[in-house]
Amino acid sequence: MQTLLDELRHIVGNAHVFTDGDLTAWEQDWRKRSHGKALAVVRPACTEEVARVVKACADYVSANPASGVSIVPQGGNTSLAVGSTPDDSGRQIVLSLQRMNTVRGVDADNLTMTVEAGCILQNLQERAEEANLLFPLSLAAEGTCTIGGNLGTNAGGTQVVRYGNTRDLCLGLEVVTAQGEVWHGLSGLRKDNTGYDLRDLFIGSEGTLGIITAATLKLYPLPAARLTAWAAVPSLEAAVTLLGLAHRHLGAGLTGFEAMGQFALSLVAKHFAQLRVPLHLDAPFCVLLENSDHESELHAHTQFERLLEIALDQGCVTDAVVSETLAQAKQLWHVRESIPLAQALEGLNIKHDISVPVSNIPDFVRATDALLQQALPGVRLVNFGHLGDGNLHYNVQAPEGVDAADFLRDHEARVNTLVFDSVQAFGGSISAEHGVGSLKVDHLAHYKSPVALGLMRAIKQALDPRNLMNPGRVVRV
Ligand SMILES: Cc1cc2nc3c(=O)[nH]c(=O)nc-3n(C[C@H](O)[C@H](O)[C@H](O)COP(=O)(O)OP(=O)(O)OC[C@H]3O[C@@H](n4cnc5c(N)ncnc54)[C@H](O)[C@@H]3O)c2cc1C
Repeated sequence: MQTLLDELRHIVGNAHVFTDGDLTAWEQDWRKRSHGKALAVVRPACTEEVARVVKACADYVSANPASGVSIVPQGGNTSLAVGSTPDDSGRQIVLSLQRMNTVRGVDADNLTMTVEAGCILQNLQERAEEANLLFPLSLAAEGTCTIGGNLGTNAGGTQVVRYGNTRDLCLGLEVVTAQGEVWHGLSGLRKDNTGYDLRDLFIGSEGTLGIITAATLKLYPLPAARLTAWAAVPSLEAAVTLLGLAHRHLGAGLTGFEAMGQFALSLVAKHFAQLRVPLHLDAPFCVLLENSDHESELHAHTQFERLLEIALDQGCVTDAVVSETLAQAKQLWHVRESIPLAQALEGLNIKHDISVPVSNIPDFVRATDALLQQALPGVRLVNFGHLGDGNLHYNVQAPEGVDAADFLRDHEARVNTLVFDSVQAFGGSISAEHGVGSLKVDHLAHYKSPVALGLMRAIKQALDPRNLMNPGRVVRV
């Protein structure tokens, strides 16, 4: 393997191939559930270097099929599905896109920007705003995750109810294939019906088909005002009714709709005493709504007040506050985004990022809560998520006083089966937005239809016959 490493050093420069020292930042996943050992971390500076690195690895594997060498593409390494770190074989190359962070151009008339894969999401939001435009993708990891990783996982986030997933925000891609060729698919076209959609194939493929090196993204006009409301609701049925009212009364202005269970919010109040968590003590669920208005702040306020008046009249909201300032709006979002951290401080837990049709959410939660309580009395359920998209983080915490690590060791497999069976019964998906990675690859084999799995394997084998790209993730071949 020394010859391969020498060649990689020759391509990207000595300073950008790491083999020694502390490589934890690249080898350990975000939740610290997995710490692998890389053959090397390689950081190319441009598409041509990525292509040469992949070609060198592909040639090496052709000549040494038993070497076990493969490539793990990595952006910000914030994957929650253990998708971006190496295994412990010491034979995987982490190909980090961190140095490819240039915005190649903004086309304000076409409402697009073309960017390299290693651009940090937050930097792209700011770059769009400098042009008085909006790049709407937004998630709590935005200060660290990269657009390449967002595309690789088809990330969701808080604005999906209005703007869709990352897939919906991308018009074209530049990709280095598993053979080391470059597909120049960057395009600002909104209409292009010329055969199979290769872009859609690479988006959400989690680095298993090729390496995204650049993308053309959709931009939108910046709204004139963004207001946030926080509403206490008496049940999840009421939250779904409120969602319907919000769609009707705010139309395209509805850009966020998050639901948070009482226990989830009580963890924020417990672990972040400095944060004020509104209205959660007397309501089983609270909802955070965002209204982005293209007229004015006054118009947004009037619309919000009218919506909440109707909702209070109908009884689907019992109390509500509307942010008066941007700082207040940010504070409300901050409470929502603190739930995962508060939950982590409470102890290890079993996470599920699931989706079911919005109309099935109340029944799904009721049925699954009951099954879990029956199987594991006293278990604590941390429920929150993007209700507007039918996406819940349905997390399971050990009963009070039970050691979290013991609970996970003894019950994780059973809890997963119970939750995923229920998801399937309600017509849902076992991974709404975090992807499959290695965490769910075996579950997917159980819950995805054999026909779909067969097609996925056929695509993988056709595009990556050497199984060079992120093997063991998404689908096993
Ligand atoms: C606090 C927190 C909050 C989060 N909130 C959300 C959320 O609301 N919604 C959501 O969807 N996710 C969320 N995530 C998960 C994570 O941030 C997303 O999956 C994100 O899109 C990953 O981006 P990344 O750059 O960190 O990718 P990485 O973690 O580096 O990689 C993720 C996957 O994409 C592949 N990949 C990376 N770069 C490329 C590339 N250039 N070409 C091809 N494949 C590539 C990797 O091989 C891996 O399989 C959250 C994570 C954290 C830590």
